[in-house]
Amino acid sequence: MAGKRCILSLFPARRRLAGVCAAAAILAILLFALLPGRTAPQQGTGLRAAEAGENLPDYTVTLRLDDQEDTLAISETVLLRNDTGETLSSLMVRTWLNAFQSEETSPAALEELYDACYPEGFSPGGLTIYDVLWNGERAAYAYVNEDQTALEMQIPALENGQQGELTLRCVAQIPACCYRTGKAGRDYQLGNVLPLLSLYQDGAWRTDAYSAVGDPFVSACANFHVTLHAPEGYVPACSAALTKGADGAWRGDLRAARDFCLCLSPDYVTASGRAGETAVYSLSKTAQGAKRALEYAKKALETYASLYGAYPYPAFTVCEANFPFSGMEYPGLCMIGADNYREDRADTLELVVAHETAHQWFYALVGSDQALQPWQDEALCEYAMLRYVRARYGQGSYETLKYYRVDAPMREKLSGSLTPGSPIDYFGNLTDYRTVVYGRGAALLLALDELLPGGADGFLKAYGSEFAFRFATRADFEESLNRYAKMDLSPLLLDYLDTVMD
Ligand SMILES: [Zn+2]
Repeated sequence: MAGKRCILSLFPARRRLAGVCAAAAILAILLFALLPGRTAPQQGTGLRAAEAGENLPDYTVTLRLDDQEDTLAISETVLLRNDTGETLSSLMVRTWLNAFQSEETSPAALEELYDACYPEGFSPGGLTIYDVLWNGERAAYAYVNEDQTALEMQIPALENGQQGELTLRCVAQIPACCYRTGKAGRDYQLGNVLPLLSLYQDGAWRTDAYSAVGDPFVSACANFHVTLHAPEGYVPACSAALTKGADGAWRGDLRAARDFCLCLSPDYVTASGRAGETAVYSLSKTAQGAKRALEYAKKALETYASLYGAYPYPAFTVCEANFPFSGMEYPGLCMIGADNYREDRADTLELVVAHETAHQWFYALVGSDQALQPWQDEALCEYAMLRYVRARYGQGSYETLKYYRVDAPMREKLSGSLTPGSPIDYFGNLTDYRTVVYGRGAALLLALDELLPGGADGFLKAYGSEFAFRFATRADFEESLNRYAKMDLSPLLLDYLDTVMD
């Protein structure tokens, strides 16, 4: 996701480096200069979602939108195999919509967002669960965290390698809220409405709260087969390409994706095209907006495919969304804030589309811990956006943008001890988050770009190939980097990601 503002300041910066870190980083650079030759960049993923979907959890989902009640009835069956290496006695499903039940837990109720997200005042949303079945039998279930975004269900012992089928039936009450989740005017923006299996990590299910800053979502890849019943006249924008059947229902499949998102509007105008093998769709309130965003999306896909390897899915969609953010990414779909479609903001629209499209590689294809290590997708996408600008518009444009997006955040004066390596719940506002995680985080990639003979792109391509459709921890990133660079760059990471500037 990208917040809207980027406050610039020209205060001089002095980095407070732990002596040992700075020395080690310099040593690493010197060592590197002595290494012969360059490491050849590895091939792009080549591995497409179709093949990657083998043995992943399989979601069969039926959705029914009621635009009178603002509800979405959800029937979801998940065929899953226990691949944790352990015996499971419970499953955890993320029910993010429940955070919208109250002002205390709603991420849209953050002070700086409240008026923009709730122009008509607070509006509650949430899930009502009707059935939880495991292999056709009722399962006991309970929420395990305060904002009710983690639903645990008890199951008979499921040995490693065993399969089972989870069925959930629930109704989502969509809040009137201009957010990634909510009804905004006549539009339904249904990010994170589908209940998804949580990530099982280090012997436990993740139960992170819905932080107001950043994107708290961490999930593994799965396959989705979705049927959507919507009232006549709504045009869907979706993670998968949807086709309308003779029965009026929309259907689509998406394989090897960590989420499935949907927006619907009666006012969408669609433009479509292709970028290589990828079908590209752009939905906006105006034909001109749809066409403009389509061209940027195509250019971004082509640029990143050449830099980081093939785009993994058969289709990619960008859609206009009514929220106070630049954009929000999902696999196969990016929401782009409506403000960016204004006639006088074409340049901004291009940068936002470029940043959000980069998330298809860094977030969607290579999963990372968005809650605890948000730099690992956001900083990489900021860097990728800069590379997009250099590839399309040359060094001068790149330098100018780098100044505003990276150099200025490095000089900015911030109180507190925030670093790009901080988890999202350390951040109290979106401005600091953007400055530190996006701007200062991207400085790491620029440093790597100077340092590595193949530039940072060579490494990112290798990293993308190694962790395609998987989840890369920070340690995975570091080990992959050190292998690629043939030296220990951990001190450099510590310097850029964990060192407080003053
Ligand atoms: Zn982002």
